[in-house]
Amino acid sequence: MRIRVAVNGYGTIGKRVADAVNRQSDMTLVGVAKTRPSFEARRAVEKGYRLYVTGGGSRDEFEAAGLPVAGGLDDLLRDADIVVDAAPDKVGAENRAIYARAGKPVIFQGGEKANVAEASFNALGNYDACRGKRSLRVVSCNTTGLARAAAVFRARWGVEHWEVTLVRRASDPAETKRGPINGILPTFQLPSHHGPDVQTIFPGLPIATTAVVVPTTLMHVHVNHLRLERAPSGPAEVLDALRATPRFHLFARWEHVDGTPQVMEYARDRGIGHNDMMENVVWEDGLRLEGRDLYFFQAIHQESIVVPENIDAIRAVFDAAKDGPASIAQTDRALGLPPPRAA
Ligand code: NAD
Repeated sequence: MRIRVAVNGYGTIGKRVADAVNRQSDMTLVGVAKTRPSFEARRAVEKGYRLYVTGGGSRDEFEAAGLPVAGGLDDLLRDADIVVDAAPDKVGAENRAIYARAGKPVIFQGGEKANVAEASFNALGNYDACRGKRSLRVVSCNTTGLARAAAVFRARWGVEHWEVTLVRRASDPAETKRGPINGILPTFQLPSHHGPDVQTIFPGLPIATTAVVVPTTLMHVHVNHLRLERAPSGPAEVLDALRATPRFHLFARWEHVDGTPQVMEYARDRGIGHNDMMENVVWEDGLRLEGRDLYFFQAIHQESIVVPENIDAIRAVFDAAKDGPASIAQTDRALGLPPPRAA
């Protein structure tokens, strides 16, 4: 049986999740719901996706733009087994009653509070605990990146203490109304909310986060210092462990990837998804081990890192894969992401 998936909210995340669903052999994209006509609505129609009107939008407005409409959100939900809510921050919580009325399970995004769903989700982190739940929240881009790394470090060496500074992108590339365009903005919530958010996946993880926002649209960068419980034999052991984990991409020194511009240039050359980089990016040169103290940078492509996680969350709801690693492998194969290298 193929899982019939609806996507409500067709912006940065929604359009990527819709394309990712469309590539899975065990899922069918029933349609996507948008509030108003736009180039993205036009692309959805050009791709053959059924378009539905949502969030108080007007069917007439779509039809005046020459975009055929298959119905409203209720029609979309009726024909779906599950809905992925990719509406703006906090709007998912408002949509919750609609999904409950329709009796459909739902995947929310990280812009919602944790209590919007039965559990927060990360595929490497807590797939098993999320099997069979009726509502899941795929944690935010930064939290997803940290949770993936936490899954590796906790399992291999244990985490005694972890401090992270998140250098956050100011806006997504298509956003025209956010900033700063000149300045570095400290986040005056100390520690920042990201640490507690990672703890929704790994309760009790000793992680403390701080954040600054900088004028870039390309990616976030995490500056990490961990004290591990047990010392790895050397940096090579850590790098091998990351290489052997799905959804990590390592750059070697000889690749001359100085920073996020080259990472995204690589992603454009590779051409997966919307020229996306769905993996945690780690520089081999940017990792140092001193006994139990591990320092490393990782870059997170905010627009796409949560996309494969949404697919795995759908499978977790229906308990439709043998286990987390099986779902991850299936998702990544369908998306064209390279498999991890054996350690
Ligand atoms: P977005 O603004 O790009 O897209 C949201 C879409 O939802 C828009 O097309 C908007 O018109 C539509 N919408 C508005 N009201 C709606 C309603 N009532 N019902 C349905 N759709 C409605 O936002 P986004 O960046 O895709 O973010 C979506 C969610 O994903 C948020 O929770 C966000 O925090 C989370 N997220 C975003 C990023 C990122 O960097 N963009 C990364 C990870 C998670």
